[in-house]
Amino acid sequence: MLVLIITFFAIANAASVFDSTQFLSEYGYLKRENNASLLDKKLVDDAVKLFQESFQFPVDGNLNDEIEEFMRAPRCGVPDYSPFMVAKIRWKKHDLKWHYQRATAEKLLLARAAFGEWAKHSPLNFTHDYYDYDILISDKYGTHNYAKTNDRCPNKFDGPGGILAHAFLPNKANTLIEIHIDEAETWNLNLEGKVEDMNTSLFNTMIHEIGHALGIHHSFNKESVMYPFLNRRTNLSEDDIQAIQSLYGSREDTSTTVRPVQPTKPTVTPISVTDVCEIKEDESDKIHYLLINGKLYVIFKRLSWILNIADETKYDTKNYYKPLELTDRLKFLSPAASFKGVTAIYQRPNGEIVLIEDQNLFMFNLHTQRLIGGYPRNVCLHFNIAQPCKINGIVNTYTGKTYVIFNEDFVGEIDECSFTLIRTDLISNMFPGIPADIDGVVRFNNGLLYFFKNGNYYEYNEFFKKVIKFGKKDHELFGLLCYSNNILKQFADFITKFHVYPKRG
Ligand SMILES: [Zn+2]
Ligand SMILES: [Zn+2]
Repeated sequence: MLVLIITFFAIANAASVFDSTQFLSEYGYLKRENNASLLDKKLVDDAVKLFQESFQFPVDGNLNDEIEEFMRAPRCGVPDYSPFMVAKIRWKKHDLKWHYQRATAEKLLLARAAFGEWAKHSPLNFTHDYYDYDILISDKYGTHNYAKTNDRCPNKFDGPGGILAHAFLPNKANTLIEIHIDEAETWNLNLEGKVEDMNTSLFNTMIHEIGHALGIHHSFNKESVMYPFLNRRTNLSEDDIQAIQSLYGSREDTSTTVRPVQPTKPTVTPISVTDVCEIKEDESDKIHYLLINGKLYVIFKRLSWILNIADETKYDTKNYYKPLELTDRLKFLSPAASFKGVTAIYQRPNGEIVLIEDQNLFMFNLHTQRLIGGYPRNVCLHFNIAQPCKINGIVNTYTGKTYVIFNEDFVGEIDECSFTLIRTDLISNMFPGIPADIDGVVRFNNGLLYFFKNGNYYEYNEFFKKVIKFGKKDHELFGLLCYSNNILKQFADFITKFHVYPKRG
């Protein structure tokens, strides 16, 4: 008997340096009882059979070249079978924060998109946070340590090919989970997942590893993103959706908004504001500005005021026309009832206006007010950014460059001919001093850029690359005088308080 076993291993080892027994042991197929020797033929046979059954090979317990070749393909380092698989441990909260240590803008973008795939089909929300996180991704090489504690990671990497990455599953205490990516791989950082160069797609690998970090084990369904071996998926399969929803439910389950069964006729909610100065401070983040030929367009929800600032004299509240309803003027926009408001707006160097309403991008001629052919388009597709994407602002600067600020942290320089991003960087690198997740941006006629966030503005000098002024985003920012900020308003408040003066409607 012993001779037979030795012969078996001698043949296996002679065929190649690949150690299939080691493989079966590492990935949980070989069940070692107590300290039983690896050279137990029965256990190895069972392990081979389990592997064959899992990956739909004929189950005969014999290893052949085809199976060994299969085993050697690039894969995830997490075992396919483990004693912990029965315990479904998950995150107890739905709002999870993540970070990718020392990552480039490109990698951060990939990670964000990968988390987005899981968020699409679950009630989980993922936020990127540099300092406070539940899931930490890092690039590691060979024998390596944990990113957070610097303790030795029990699993090492094996150079190019073989193991691509590994992740840990959530623990009962819901403490930090790490994902380690093998630095030795030549990673393809393509978001769209071009089929021909998907061999080491970081995007696919990242979606897979995040699945583990959320509590999902491997799936033997070839179509699943949780398949142990690298596949070409860049979205979740039915199998993956079922897995995430069995842990967390679906997004709809937890939605607090009750949708009417019968479609009701949309009604137009009247906007009570008729004066720019009536826009409340807490809604100032919904104000967008656009400067065209000496005219400042102040845009708020469906309304737009046009302020003539060409003569540089200060204008007061009487000096502008009543607001225009954008949806009346620009017929191609959604009807007023469903118009979601302007997310971002800018003028292209050729004069055309680009208006973004949520996920739709409208490009139109200002004079004819007609759409350019092929529009509206999905905004992410237009800029070739992975979906879902969030546009924070777009601006055409004095240097003639157009920048789109998106997905909170990122800035892309747009090629105005092809509309693709020429380069992408973090906002902290491109516009030092400007925070992440801005509400909007505009170029004013003084040559400066104004970024807005949480009711504040950042006056930015493009040439010196720095913030030169910071303050409250009120109507006086661009010279508009509102009585609300002066003594008259205080007086009106005083009177109202004592019920002497009738309340304004
Ligand atoms: Zn895995
Ligand atoms: Zn590790």
